[in-house]
Amino acid sequence: LLMAYEPAKRLSRIRIQAENLMTRVQLMFDILDQPDTMLEAPDAVELQPGPGEVRLDHVRFGYRDGRPVIPDLTLTFEPGKTTALVGPSGSGKSTVFNLVMRLYDPDAGAVLIDGQDLRRVTFASLRRRISFVGQDTFLFSTTIMENIRCARPEATDDEVIAAARAAHAHDFIMALPDGYQTQVGERGNFLSGGQRQRISIARTILRDAEILLLDEATSALDASSEAAIRDTLQEITQGRTTIVIAHRLSTILQADRIVVLNDGQIVEYGTAAELLERGGLFRQLYDQQFGGMILPDSGAGDDL
Ligand code: ATP
Repeated sequence: LLMAYEPAKRLSRIRIQAENLMTRVQLMFDILDQPDTMLEAPDAVELQPGPGEVRLDHVRFGYRDGRPVIPDLTLTFEPGKTTALVGPSGSGKSTVFNLVMRLYDPDAGAVLIDGQDLRRVTFASLRRRISFVGQDTFLFSTTIMENIRCARPEATDDEVIAAARAAHAHDFIMALPDGYQTQVGERGNFLSGGQRQRISIARTILRDAEILLLDEATSALDASSEAAIRDTLQEITQGRTTIVIAHRLSTILQADRIVVLNDGQIVEYGTAAELLERGGLFRQLYDQQFGGMILPDSGAGDDL
């Protein structure tokens, strides 16, 4: 019996290692510059299900050089609501994402999902709750089918195809030489930016996480791709806790709330109408980016 037990133990160790590897792979396709200094607590527990409230509680944070990028930030993202993060370049918008995805830990304070400190939960359970759609989509050198399925490895072909349909990716996939079995090539180079983004959205739909982090692309997509992607994203944010680094006016105007960051601090928050009225930093950024000529009720479709 002992002899049978030993290999089983070894096997289960291998399985744990494989799971860790899978988590890292999952992180990789979302974010490429994942620092490899992050470790899971040895007694890490599963992140328990909940409505999807994300909270930064007196977070202080600086990157390796020690300069505090975020001096002391307390901010709650309400379940099911869309919050647009707005602010000048370097104000800390992406850093908030990095902290919520636990690519870094705060130097002081805590990041919590449904009241649970991210430092105490397993990476795998955290990844299941969060989806990130960014400007760069990492694609593996394999088929389209597997590139979507990696968001939820146990998904059936039908589920992958349903997600691709919902992401408006099905038609372009079917037009490829081998459909879903088409090899995307080294890093997906032969797909366009818009197509890669649709694959990323299909993954998000397949993963069905209740927290969505969205870094809006300003990349040069053609107008019809932009519109299709915008509509799809609008649909998938419904009922999810969405935090969006917003570049498009339409997104900013549709958000439930806007948080304006400067030097890692909240300088204003409210709806677009309230912030325009206030005439502060948001008004200034808005005037710079959108010419100040577009009124909220007439310019909802304009892009940055
Ligand atoms: P942008 O709109 O230009 O993307 P942002 O508001 O997202 O800017 P962050 O990317 O969060 O701003 O950057 C905040 C500050 O942290 C900046 O001063 C930036 O130089 C610094 N920073 C960001 N990422 C890193 C990193 N990996 N290492 C060191 N410093 C970083």
